[in-house]
Amino acid sequence: MDYYGSRMQALIEELSKLPGVGAKSAQRLAFHIIRMPEESVEKLTEAMTEARHSVCYCKRCCNLTDQELCPICSSPHRDGSQIMVVENPRDLAAYEKTGKYEGLYHVLHGAISPALGIGPSDIRLAELMQRLQKEDVHEVIIATNSSLEGETTAMYISKLIKPTGIRVSRIASGVPVGGDLEYIDEVTLLRALEGRVEL
Ligand code: ZN
Repeated sequence: MDYYGSRMQALIEELSKLPGVGAKSAQRLAFHIIRMPEESVEKLTEAMTEARHSVCYCKRCCNLTDQELCPICSSPHRDGSQIMVVENPRDLAAYEKTGKYEGLYHVLHGAISPALGIGPSDIRLAELMQRLQKEDVHEVIIATNSSLEGETTAMYISKLIKPTGIRVSRIASGVPVGGDLEYIDEVTLLRALEGRVEL
């Protein structure tokens, strides 16, 4: 029903298309936005437009960045001999928050899921294999989630890498099954990293 006129309705409709935003939250957000100072609304829309326009994948690790290389890949302090493979940039952020991991990452942007029709070529796996040919990597740490998809992906990657002679390890379980890495506290993440086992 159109109680507020078409402009307000359009705003509510657009907001409700965002993930996790239901009809009620969309309405609440819309009311909040129209009460904000115009300047703040402009800042918000500008931040969204700019981010959408300039954020792309890092040429090396596929993390999100607005440069050719992300800040982690371009840092001289990171150890290029270790690559931690994660499903998405939020998992990378979770490990970065621990402040204890000094290697590089590779972001797959998904996981293999035969049930959902997501195969190896639908995630950034070819990019990882190319990196292993070019870079001097001693260990690949697979830190995909402990869900069925995450485990399937881990097994697939380890089988691909094994013949190259590069060490492949998997973060320890202890990370709850089906748990998204980003929701797990830092201590658990560190324990999982330290207790990783060779595949
Ligand atoms: Zn990068």
